[in-house]
Amino acid sequence: MAGANRARPWPTTSTQIAAVVGDPIDHSLSPLLHNAAFHAMGLDWAYGAFQVGAEDATSVVAAFRTLGLGGLSVTMPLKAGIAAAVDELTPIAAAIGAVNTVMWRGDQVVGDSTDGRGFLDALADEGFVVEGRRCVILGAGGAARALAHALGSAAAADVALVARDPNKARAAAGVAGQCGRVGDDDAVRNADLVVNATPLGMAANDELPVDPLLFSGSQLVCDLVYSPPVTPLLAAARDRGATAMNGLSMLIHQAAAQIRAWTGQEPPLDVMSAAAVSTVSSRH
Ligand code: NAP
Repeated sequence: MAGANRARPWPTTSTQIAAVVGDPIDHSLSPLLHNAAFHAMGLDWAYGAFQVGAEDATSVVAAFRTLGLGGLSVTMPLKAGIAAAVDELTPIAAAIGAVNTVMWRGDQVVGDSTDGRGFLDALADEGFVVEGRRCVILGAGGAARALAHALGSAAAADVALVARDPNKARAAAGVAGQCGRVGDDDAVRNADLVVNATPLGMAANDELPVDPLLFSGSQLVCDLVYSPPVTPLLAAARDRGATAMNGLSMLIHQAAAQIRAWTGQEPPLDVMSAAAVSTVSSRH
């Protein structure tokens, strides 16, 4: 196993190559997470990163096919473009119109999305049961649509989308099914779960995506942003007595789901988590 025992030169001609594609890509934790998992699993896989813009989605899928890559992770701004370029979409990827995972099914190149699954796994780790609960998603982009689909599929009572563009909020709410709707301040006030699915909180002087005075002690407030580990939104939520969860657990779980899809094997979540936590902490 060249991946596990590197006494001999590695990678070799039989090493399976996977990578993340997107722009920007230099701060991505995906190579760290996947390589830590592959190494611990003793798999002869290596994972890299390529900076690619939205205009090159079709070329990325062609390269995946020509080079016979093992798998691809897809991030902004390529998720919709790759969805349009693959041979087939899984039902989830088709419902949300976005792909974060490219894999083989026979000789077909298939696009999937593991973001929603990763989020539900992160909620389960936190002991949060979605069924029958009132949920608010802030934002209406790719991640918001993945979450809307996941929460709707997990039988949430209500999935309210709050976004600066009401038309986008309405479209994303439709992905949640019957329980989806456009939300407002009252939806946030009455929610069991509030999730920030906008990038607000990544930059030091970002405004908050919602008024934290709407939060209360019975709520779980999640931020998909994980760097910094405690965003201003999460700090404000804690001040109001709410439980706070950042996006790191989702990131690990969506990566783990990709490894299952590519290799059919169970990745070591503890190894991936330790690698991610130490790197994020060292950056702040
Ligand atoms: P996206 O498709 O670009 O959507 C971003 C959403 O945020 C859109 O609704 C956008 O509104 C809104 N938005 C952007 N800037 C805003 C502002 N200044 N004020 C109010 N709303 C604003 O991005 P995405 O892929 O959904 O990702 C969203 C966030 O989730 C990013 O921070 C990403 O890193 C994070 N994420 C984390 C994970 C994880 O595993 N933890 C996974 C996926 C994504 P408009 O459409 O009006 O521009």
